[in-house]
Amino acid sequence: MANTTVKGVIIKQSDYGEGHRILSIFGEGVGIIKAISYGAVKAKSSVAASSQMLSYGTFSLYDGGRLASVRSADIEESFYPISCDIIKLSLVSYLSDITYGILGENNADDNILSLYLNTLYALAYKDADVKKVKTVYELRLMSFGGYMPALDNCIECGNEDIFAFDLKKGSVVCKDCSDGAVKINQAVLLAMRYIISCENRKMLSFNASEELIEYLNNISQRYVSTQLDKRFKSLDYYNAILLS
Ligand SMILES: [Zn+2]
Repeated sequence: MANTTVKGVIIKQSDYGEGHRILSIFGEGVGIIKAISYGAVKAKSSVAASSQMLSYGTFSLYDGGRLASVRSADIEESFYPISCDIIKLSLVSYLSDITYGILGENNADDNILSLYLNTLYALAYKDADVKKVKTVYELRLMSFGGYMPALDNCIECGNEDIFAFDLKKGSVVCKDCSDGAVKINQAVLLAMRYIISCENRKMLSFNASEELIEYLNNISQRYVSTQLDKRFKSLDYYNAILLS
């Protein structure tokens, strides 16, 4: 049993028992951890404000066995503009789910944490295009998490004449080897190459038509669900909200 501090961001919350809340905190050097915040749902609770989704700061935890509990929190940033926008909020909920899908619990990955925080910042304060943010996050998360798409030559025969992207193989393929793969043109290929290889701070600094972003979204979200072999309800919810 010990007291510890974690610097991180709440990526998910769920109500628990009588007025309590279970938080998933994505923290520096620790990855995603779960902690219970007692009394968090009560309006006047001192920890209520610091037990909200997307609160970022330093959490003091008491690690008393099966589940740590939050003793106090010093919140530096809440990414408030995201909470006021149902589309952005539902996107972030999905991005949190796929991040958990890649990392699970207690797997430190500060590179992915930076990606997550940069993405929140872009959504909250840079008025970044939601669909662009989504496809960039999906492709970079997969790349950082061990599923980097191979985008040089056809994975089957080495042909440099790229015709399609194979979601299961995670690679580009030529026309002869493209059975079941998603057709991609040069613009899609170049955009994918840029997205997975650029620096974090430049990840949204490319020009793309609305049509190209749509196409990239279709590929990247299917790539995530194919590789993780999972359908995300939060993605269905986000897509339903976009259409409403
Ligand atoms: Zn081939």
